[in-house]
Amino acid sequence: EKFKDGMSKTRESFLGKMNELFARYRTVDEDFFEELEELLIGADVGVETVLELIDELKDEVRLRNIKDTSGLAPVISEKLAEKLDKTGEDSALNMQENDMTVILFVGVNGVGKTTTIGKMAHMFKEEGKSVMMAAGDTFRAGAIEQLEVWGERVGVDVVKQQAGSDPAAVMYDAVQSAKSKNVDVLLCDTAGRLQNKVNLMKELEKVKKVISREIPDAPHEVLLVLDATTGQNAMSQAKTFGQATDVSGIILTKLDGTAKGGIVLAIRNELDIPVKYVGLGEKMDDLQPFDSEQFVYGLFK
Ligand code: GDP
Repeated sequence: EKFKDGMSKTRESFLGKMNELFARYRTVDEDFFEELEELLIGADVGVETVLELIDELKDEVRLRNIKDTSGLAPVISEKLAEKLDKTGEDSALNMQENDMTVILFVGVNGVGKTTTIGKMAHMFKEEGKSVMMAAGDTFRAGAIEQLEVWGERVGVDVVKQQAGSDPAAVMYDAVQSAKSKNVDVLLCDTAGRLQNKVNLMKELEKVKKVISREIPDAPHEVLLVLDATTGQNAMSQAKTFGQATDVSGIILTKLDGTAKGGIVLAIRNELDIPVKYVGLGEKMDDLQPFDSEQFVYGLFK
C-alpha cells in the first residue's frame, strides 16, 4: 500500500498515457511501437532499455501472433518485470548473523543520503537491533549536525569529530566504539564530492581500508544513494561511483516526487547493481525494500 501511494505520481502519469495510447491504437503496428517507445523514454526508462524492450515485444508479437493492442498489454508488464528481475536477486541486505554489520553510504550531496541513513537506523531499531551512526561526511557544512538530528529522532548514537577532520579517523573511532558497545549495525555516512573522481576514489578506499582492518569482511554493503527526480543524471552518477568503488546496492530516493519512476528500470537493466530500497517520502518510515514485481504490476493497476 505504502509503495503504491509513494509511486502514485509515476503510476498515474504512466497509466494515463498507456490507456490513452491503447485507446488510440487497436491494432499493433509500427506507429504504435513508435509511440510506445516515446512514452517509455519519456518516463525515464532509458533509451537502451526501451530499445531492447521494443525489440523483445516485436518478437513476442510475431511468435504469439498478437494482432490487437489489448493482447499486448500483459506482455508489456511481463517483459518489464523480466528486465527488473534479471538476476533474480532480492532486496535483502547482506546482514551478519552473529557479528556487527557495517554499511557504507555513498552518493552526491542533496540526493537524500543523510535522510536515508536516518530512515535505515529507524528500520533496524524497529527490528530490535542496536544501531550506531558514523558522521563520515566531514566536508559538507551541516552534514554532521543533520545526522545528529536524525540520531536524536530515532534514538541512535552518532560518532563524530569536528567538521573538516579526516573521515577515515571518524570511521576508526566509530568501529571501535561500535565494537565496545556490541552494536549490531553500524551505518556510515561519507562525503559526496564528485568534482574530483580521483580524490573520491582515494577517500572511499581509505575509509574502507580502515573499516576492514578492524572487521575483516566489512563493509558488508556499499549502498549508493541516488535521487530519482534527477533522471538520467542519476544514471551517470551510478556509473561514476561504480568506477570509484564496489557498489553493492542502490537506494533510489524521492520516488514520491517524480512521475518518472521508470528510472528504476533503466538503473536495473543498464547497470549490474540491484536497487535494494526506495525512498518514498521525508519521514522516518518512508523507506521501503524494493520489490520489482510489485513495482511493475503496480504501474498497471
Ligand atoms: P544529502 O545531502 O544527500 O544528505 O541529502 P538529505 O538527506 O539532506 O536530503 C535532501 C532533501 O531531500 C531533504 O529535504 C530531504 O528531506 C529530502 N528527501 C530525502 N529523501 C526523500 C524521499 O524519499 N522523498 C522526498 N520527497 N524527499 C526526500
